[in-house]
Amino acid sequence: MVTAREVAEGVLDPELPVLTLADLGVLREVTETAGRVVVTITPTYSGCPAIDQMRSDLRASLAGAGYRDVEVRTVLAPAWTTDWITDAGRRKLAEYGIAPPARIGPRPAGPVPLNLTPPPSRVRCPRCGSAETVELSRFSATACRALRRCESCREPFEHVKEL
Ligand SMILES: [Zn+2]
Repeated sequence: MVTAREVAEGVLDPELPVLTLADLGVLREVTETAGRVVVTITPTYSGCPAIDQMRSDLRASLAGAGYRDVEVRTVLAPAWTTDWITDAGRRKLAEYGIAPPARIGPRPAGPVPLNLTPPPSRVRCPRCGSAETVELSRFSATACRALRRCESCREPFEHVKEL
């Protein structure tokens, strides 16, 4: 039988369906005690309405694998950041034509200032690798993604914004 953890890790992110919850790094813990599965997740962007979808997708996948007693817990601290996206996840994004977020590194502890600006980072075109790209719109299909255009190959592409 597939373990509950394996099932939960394979659930796709509703916002970026090329990534699993494991790729995204939102899956914190999966425990199984006497047939009861407790999945702990840290949601991604608080502005994305994906959390309810994740919850029901987790339940549905686990039920399909025979786990019927499932609780999905949400843990908000420490807050998820795009640094938690795994290397495999970043590769999948790029292969899909979406520029992965840059790694930001350790953040100062405590409340995040509201005027926090992203570090200067060159977003590379996922198609040709050029660093000559410009942002067309801060938001695209979802609030998590910006729309950019490559100045070399002239192709528009999406970029998962650093958080
Ligand atoms: Zn390009």
